[in-house]
Order: sequence, then C-alpha cells, then structure tokens
Amino acid sequence: MKQTGQIIRSYGRRFIVETDGRSYDCTTRGKRVNYACGDFVDILIQNDEQAVIENAHERRSLLYRQDDWKTKMIAANVTRILFVTAAVPTPSEEFLNRGLIAAEAADIEPIILVNKSDLPETAAWLKKLELYQALGYHVLSLSAKQSVEELRPLLAGHTSVFVGQSGMGKSTLTNALLPDACARIGDISTALDSGRHTTTHAALYHLDSNSHLIDSPGLQEFGLKHLQATDLVHYFPEMRPLIGQCRFHNCAHLAEPDCAIKEAAKSGKISQYRMELLQRLTSELNKITA
Ligand code: GDP
Ligand code: ZN
Repeated sequence: MKQTGQIIRSYGRRFIVETDGRSYDCTTRGKRVNYACGDFVDILIQNDEQAVIENAHERRSLLYRQDDWKTKMIAANVTRILFVTAAVPTPSEEFLNRGLIAAEAADIEPIILVNKSDLPETAAWLKKLELYQALGYHVLSLSAKQSVEELRPLLAGHTSVFVGQSGMGKSTLTNALLPDACARIGDISTALDSGRHTTTHAALYHLDSNSHLIDSPGLQEFGLKHLQATDLVHYFPEMRPLIGQCRFHNCAHLAEPDCAIKEAAKSGKISQYRMELLQRLTSELNKITA
C-alpha cells in the first residue's frame, strides 16, 4: 500500500516515517540516499513496522552540513532558522554571518536569538548585534533558563531549527520547549527505535500540530559549499541595491577597480567587515570549484 508521510528521524541510511499518526522503519531504494529529516515522502508499506521510501516531494528548503554537503543533507522543509548566540562562551561573529548567509541562500528568514540574557555580559554583545538589527534581522534576547514563552509565537506554524556554536544553549532551549522530548522518542515505539539504529542524525519533534522543531547534532553550522561564488552578494541584504553598479558587470568585488561594493564599505555605507567576509567567501568558493 502506498502512502505519503514525513521523515521524523534519520539514521544515515534508515529513516522513520510518520503517516497518519503511525511510524514506519524505512529503507530506501538504490544506493544513493537522497532524503533528509523533514522530507515529505511516498512510502510503500510492507507490514506493520516496515516500509520503503519511493521518492521525496518537492522541498521548500534543504540544509546541508558544513563538512560534507554532498552526502549530508540534514534538514528539509525548514521555514525558520534560529541562530542561538550568547555572550558566554565567546560568540563568533564569523559563525553568525555564515549562518545568516546560508539562511538567505536557502530563502529562510533567520532570527538571531540572544540567549543567557540573565548574564551581565549580554549588554555588550547586544550592542554589537545592533548592526544586524539595522540590516533587518530580528534580534530576540531571552534566558532559556528562565522562560522560552516569548519564543513560541515565532515558532508557531513553522518548522524550525536551532543552530549556533556549542555552549550557547541549543539543548537547553530544545528541552525547555519540549520537556517530554525523551518520552516522544520513546513513543515512536521501542521496537522501531531499538539498537538497530545507532546514531540519530536528526529528529523532528512536534511542538503542536502545526509547529515542528528539527534537532540534529550535526546542525551546529550548515554548509555554504554548495553555493555559487557569484551568487554570494545576493545574500547580503545591504549589498543587494548595489548589484549592477560596479564598473564591470561580472565584478567579483575583489581586485576590480570602481567596485560599488568596495566603495560603499570605504565610505562607511556598509560594514567593512561584511565586505571583507564577502571577499573571503568568494575566494573560498572559487577554490572549491577551481
Ligand atoms: P548547546 O551546546 O548549544 O546545546 O548548549 P547547552 O544547552 O548545553 O548550554 C550550555 C551551557 O549554558 C549549559 O551549562 C547551560 O546550563 C547554560 N545555559 C543555557 N541557557 C542559559 C541561560 O539562559 N542562562 C545561563 N546563565 N546559562 C545558560
Ligand atoms: Zn564590484
């Protein structure tokens, strides 16, 4: 019997697919595994517990791991990315920027979530983040240890992921939102989730019938390696109005003269740091494709 469902766990080559409140342990056809947690798939049911994934439906979005994007797709159909950052341990602006670019590239609205607002160091970090607020990004400050209620309206109706450096509070947030997450894994049925599967690559949890959270140990940072160097500038909102204004139509904004992007940075209209980041990422991507 054929049915449509959603992948709610991925374990490398095996998946658990949920359909009509039932879960099936699924394998795939062929050698290539082209599915990720969050994918809507057609499955061929074999018995009460097992099914085979036939194909995936068109995706709203697809996120890759940073290290190995060719084989590691980690989350499909995400509509909300929350960058979890905090003043302690040391936050990296580079990390945040790479994440914002990946989100822009995937056409997913990112939210910058400043956790640990109870710590006095937070004020200085929030000051630094004013740049990103000016770029149009939503910055929300809270303490996962105190309350996550402010966050819920931003998750409603979305499939969300938390990304961020380790130690920023992703697990604390997840646990606060899903106090019974462990129980939920349990109710997939111990038979399905037994020792046959070793590492969970990603899991989708229901916050309510309309709102979901994908949690993955591999989702600290996601990849940029699948992007085209020439597209990068589109993922910097402040640079978009400048596209087409350089002297050369194919300007890479590196060594070219009369570059509108470099000039805007020089005159302080856009951030020098972000302009240099664009250049650095352009060179990195050119190296991969060279
Ligand atoms: P992850 O690596 O991003 O999953 O971070 P964790 O959730 O494991 O949190 C890292 C550390 O930060 C833990 O010791 C948490 O108790 C602590 N932490 C998380 N949220 C808060 C918060 O809102 N305030 C403070 N002061 N500490 C927090
Ligand atoms: Zn240019």
